[in-house]
Amino acid sequence: MKTVSSLLDDHWYERYKRISKLNIRSSIYDVTNRCNLRCKGCFFFSSGEHEAATEENDISRWNAFVDKEMARGVNLAILIGGEPTLCMDRIEAFYRRIPTFCATNGLIRVPRDRFPDLMVGISLWGDEEDEKLLRGKDVFSISSKNYEGDPHAYYLYTITPKQIGRTERIVGKIQDVGLKVHLQLLSNDEGVNGFSWQPRQLEEIRLEMDAMLDRYPDTVISSKYYHEIITTGKMLGRRFGWTECPSVTAPMDSRNPQPKRLTNFIRWASDLSTMHRCCTSETRDCSTCKDGAAHMSWVMVNKRAHMRSSRDLRNWIEVYEMFAKLYQFIPW
Ligand code: SF4
Ligand code: SF4
Repeated sequence: MKTVSSLLDDHWYERYKRISKLNIRSSIYDVTNRCNLRCKGCFFFSSGEHEAATEENDISRWNAFVDKEMARGVNLAILIGGEPTLCMDRIEAFYRRIPTFCATNGLIRVPRDRFPDLMVGISLWGDEEDEKLLRGKDVFSISSKNYEGDPHAYYLYTITPKQIGRTERIVGKIQDVGLKVHLQLLSNDEGVNGFSWQPRQLEEIRLEMDAMLDRYPDTVISSKYYHEIITTGKMLGRRFGWTECPSVTAPMDSRNPQPKRLTNFIRWASDLSTMHRCCTSETRDCSTCKDGAAHMSWVMVNKRAHMRSSRDLRNWIEVYEMFAKLYQFIPW
């Protein structure tokens, strides 16, 4: 039988040991149903998830809820929405207790005296033209001022088909403001004309993502294997989709057979009792899903399958390291 140590040299085995201790157990929380933007293609609003529950306004209930989540074994809280920064006291309920990540559009700065090392992922949907079309304004021009040089913030750059050939300028702009960037792909949930991926475009953007990683290794937090998985939707000959997805809310997961999945993962709505189907849109057709975190997790929960060769196991380690950096479990 192949063992981890037999597949890796000393360097890679050290890297493996560093991440194998982490045992990350994440869940996702809708902090609010409100947002100060309304982006075309936002999975939250387009799937009606903002109407699935009434927000809990009593902060003592949020505090008690986070305690219960920790007792359930959660050791990473991923805050989304809506826009979490509209409710700083709810962010604080998590941040004071548990490693916390906050997704934001960056229009409101998280105060660093209150949240000194809260990891912030700032959404970015392309260049000025794309952001104006899809989000109503050039969001980067504001978010980059709010977070310039912040060591606990990075851009989550959602690449659209219109961005092919134009990503380098964006990566350069991010580098210029002293931030890192992670790349992901748009799932065109609202069918905006020209923003759905065609197979050739996916091949082109994979090459471009690889080139960005080669040229900007200190700015781009990514891995070529992740690029392969997200653009092809395939891993070790298996196809991503409902039967394989690791990020389905555990109590709602009646799949049979059960695939490898995130342990005890739940995506909670903002009433703290309603659950959503998965980490992203309730209504998305899984065969079109490009969710970056779900694809990353898909790799991560399938370690054993990657133990067929040294190359496969090193790919697995790189994806795990990428995830651990993005959620601040290991340094950049
Ligand atoms: S900023 Fe985020 S939550 Fe708000 S509308 Fe845009 S994608 Fe949706
Ligand atoms: S939409 Fe994506 S993340 Fe949600 S269940 Fe389907 S494949 Fe998984």
